Amino acid sequence: MRIGALEAGGTKMVCAVGDENGNLERKVSFPTKTPEETMPVLLDFFEEQKVEAVGIGCFGPVDLNKKSPTYGCITSTPKLAWVNYNIVDAFEKRVGVPIGFDTDVNGAVLGEVCFGAAKGCESAVYITVGTGVGVGVYVNGGLLHGLLHPEAGHVLVARASEDTYAGKCPYHPNCLEGLAAGPAIMERWGRPASELAEREEVWELESYYIAQAVTNYILTLSPQKVILGGGVMHQEQLFPLIRAKVVKMLNGYVRHNAVIEEMDHYIVPPMLGGEPGIKGALVLGRNAGQNIVK
Ligand code: ADP
Ligand code: ZN
Repeated sequence: MRIGALEAGGTKMVCAVGDENGNLERKVSFPTKTPEETMPVLLDFFEEQKVEAVGIGCFGPVDLNKKSPTYGCITSTPKLAWVNYNIVDAFEKRVGVPIGFDTDVNGAVLGEVCFGAAKGCESAVYITVGTGVGVGVYVNGGLLHGLLHPEAGHVLVARASEDTYAGKCPYHPNCLEGLAAGPAIMERWGRPASELAEREEVWELESYYIAQAVTNYILTLSPQKVILGGGVMHQEQLFPLIRAKVVKMLNGYVRHNAVIEEMDHYIVPPMLGGEPGIKGALVLGRNAGQNIVK
């Protein structure tokens, strides 16, 4: 099958064409402007490529409920031009093929489950720590939606007693995104995260917040693999710090070898590098084309 994949982000739209096995044939990016400016470019691309289905992993929040009249809409995004824009509808009307649709991070976890670090897992989480924190959740062989969809980047964490930074999230003074995403690191320490590699205290604190969230995801979702991606995780020294803190926080309660002896293979970076999102979108398209619901 010739499948179109779109990783729709707040700054760029990554478009690709590929097959059922995750092979990408073409990949191009367009800047995210307004829907009026950007959508015709995307629709032209996929129409020209003669795809038989399209999968979209989308920035959000989005409406994923197929029974809702606003299914396929980007809902309350800070990208104001896109608020209430129905991206699925636009594709259905113009490209006229089955459209798979999910959040960008659910796309990313699906990519890693099908082709990457969580291959073969029934349950896995993908956490991106970048401009924001997003969490894709795959449980019992399917992507988790629920009431709206998980917003686990905003889980509340206990503040380190020495941390006087107010937090960057306008909703929550103590959420993971507000305390640990790239912009929070920059505001707290006065320099971009990428320039703070040598500052041990930065990564001690960062790993303390990420480890709390990961511990909670392990306790609630029981993932078989925890994948940590996004720009901030380029600081590879975070991985051993997070693993050690998670072990300490779990304190022996979860009795499985994955979290006792095999931590190095349990909390891992994405295996697909920069491509879990676009490859996941490909799977969303494949599933839509084959009428697979999960
Ligand atoms: P986005 O979340 O917008 O999709 P990224 O995942 O690339 O994009 O995240 C961007 C954030 O990651 C920025 O806040 C940036 O400061 C941070 N970042 C990018 N590269 C690095 C790096 N090498 N080390 C630490 N932080 C980084
Ligand atoms: Zn928040």
